[in-house]
Amino acid sequence: LRLQPDGTARSICGFCSTGCGLKLHLKEGEAINATPDPDYPVNLGTACPKGWEALTPLDAPDRATTPLHHGQPIDWSAAMDVFCTRMKEVMAQHGPESVAFISTGQIMCEEMAFLGTLAKFGMGMIHGDGNTRQCMATAVTAYKESFGFDAPPFTYGDFEESDVLVFIGANPCIAHPIMWQRVLRNPRDPKIIVVDPRTTETAMAAHQHYAIQPKSDLTLLYGLAHLLIRDNALDTTFIEEHTADFEAFSAFIQDYTPARVSQETGLSEEQLQCFADTIRLGTPRVSFWWTMGVNQSHQATRTAQAIINLALMTGNIGKPGTGANSITGQCNAMGSRLFSNTTNLIGGHDFKNPLHRAKIAQALRIPESQIPDQPSLAYDQILEGIETGKIRALWIIATNPSHSWINQNRFNELMGKLDFLVVQDMYATTETSRQAHLFLPAAGWGEKEGTFINSERRIGVSRQVRKAPGQALSDLRIYRLIAHAWGLGDMFAEWTSPEAVFHILKRCTEDQPCDISGITDYSMIENRGGIQWPLSGAASSSFETERRLFSDGLFYTADQRARFVFDVPQLPPELPDSEFPLILLTGRGTSAQWHTETRTKKSEVLKKLAPEELLIEIHPDDALKLGIRDGDKTVISSRRASLIAKARVSPTVSKGQVFLPMHDARVNQLTYWAVDPHSRQPSYKHCAVKVSLC
Ligand code: SF4
Repeated sequence: LRLQPDGTARSICGFCSTGCGLKLHLKEGEAINATPDPDYPVNLGTACPKGWEALTPLDAPDRATTPLHHGQPIDWSAAMDVFCTRMKEVMAQHGPESVAFISTGQIMCEEMAFLGTLAKFGMGMIHGDGNTRQCMATAVTAYKESFGFDAPPFTYGDFEESDVLVFIGANPCIAHPIMWQRVLRNPRDPKIIVVDPRTTETAMAAHQHYAIQPKSDLTLLYGLAHLLIRDNALDTTFIEEHTADFEAFSAFIQDYTPARVSQETGLSEEQLQCFADTIRLGTPRVSFWWTMGVNQSHQATRTAQAIINLALMTGNIGKPGTGANSITGQCNAMGSRLFSNTTNLIGGHDFKNPLHRAKIAQALRIPESQIPDQPSLAYDQILEGIETGKIRALWIIATNPSHSWINQNRFNELMGKLDFLVVQDMYATTETSRQAHLFLPAAGWGEKEGTFINSERRIGVSRQVRKAPGQALSDLRIYRLIAHAWGLGDMFAEWTSPEAVFHILKRCTEDQPCDISGITDYSMIENRGGIQWPLSGAASSSFETERRLFSDGLFYTADQRARFVFDVPQLPPELPDSEFPLILLTGRGTSAQWHTETRTKKSEVLKKLAPEELLIEIHPDDALKLGIRDGDKTVISSRRASLIAKARVSPTVSKGQVFLPMHDARVNQLTYWAVDPHSRQPSYKHCAVKVSLC
């Protein structure tokens, strides 16, 4: 009876971008249990283990309960004094460009908008970025160049309405298990194609698995385009009416002959033909899906655009069961794309466009002069700025880059160079928090409210069902404290609650492709089971629950035509050699852990579902050559570091390749610092290593 609930609240899961609905069962107003919401249109009554365990991280014994200055507890008043004094000192001495922030896709839209507005239009910072740079920056850049706006076109209904689903660098069985459940509900007996060097769980379930040479995906996609053009398997009407630059693409693609592509990808010419025949014009509905295997690469943007090109060539866009569809990572990466105010001016606008600056100044009721005319430096450029002494103070919010950033040792050296490091998090015990000069304790998911936007552009409301421990405050309340302490109380007088901020965001999106001005309030979102953007005021009286983009064939470019964008493939920056002869692949290892395990490691249930030890997958032939047997302890070394892992001898990786899961803090000691030149997203998926017996 003690645990018998006396009420229920509906909310949205705070881990991945699927955005599952959860029912939170309450006792005297506090959540005591979570179950999947059977009525939510995203997950239809299912949840992965992380969703079932969503409340557990809130009860962890190491929750931060007080601000800390050099590890010593202080109260909020003293913390605000330290924050403002030190930040102002650094800015006065070194200029506004010397202070930056690193945000996250884990906080609410309202919180990230408050942070971006406070930091850049209030405090006067120029630079801030988010951990979405590690996750979705590539898709943003690719969509903007190809479609004219960062606009993932799909709905989850497309998983159930395709005849062919092509997953490229994506392992939804593990990374997005509820999306994979939607695939399994497809009644059309669809063909599943997986492009991945590794035989992932999704590849095992596929009809066709193309285990290409690591990072030969761009060449493969150009090779498929070559075959489609050669075989006249194109939707020429769609190309003529709705796209531009096809002739130039067609000429470029002539060099990607089956013989060349076969040699560079490791696939046979017969396999290439089979793949092309499966997606050619005449196949009713083909959908293309990609995620981090594409996005986290040295040529990520062009690879994503090569996927978009295939969808455009075959007319697979804007119709049920089609699309060039980027699946995002974090619960609110999509919110960050619109509202973080870092690369894009808030609401999907452009810092360099004077009309956009004027519009946002009016929407925020601030002078236009407070809006800089340049976007922030990207994450890696902020870090390079620390190296050169340009950036002297950093404010990190709800992310753990000391674990997750590439070439981790160098990242941690850079943190040591800062004059002032502020970390704001639920836990003072993360690898990053432990280095903070000033630590600010934050409430977690379930202890605050606001909106998330999921991969299919669906806005959902996450509700407060717990009190934060000790002095921990919601991120929004922390920003309000800072605004007052900095002397910006008047500027943020309207920003009193998450829902009040949501109304400001509505003003910021008016007349944009992501217009949400037709949403009246949070209760409308909840009553409709979440609402996909766009929803303008004019459209709000009658709309479908699931709406895909481009059903009219009109894109967001000036001439409303989608672009074919392409470039010559480049070799990865670090290739195997005689000293480091193997290629290390990294990726998600289990559906039971989340990113740097900051929260999920607090759950005994999730720990039991994930392997206890770090496992390295190695091909049986390589293992035999190195004298390694299954279960042996091995040393894995790159040019940057070494670590120890237990061998899992398995043909899931090809000869010459090994695989490590990204969740272990040591794995990014091995990876190297390289980014895609267009999206500046780090390349996590490929580095040279050697393996030996321990
Ligand atoms: Fe759904 Fe993702 Fe949460 Fe799992 S982690 S319940 S898939 S939103």
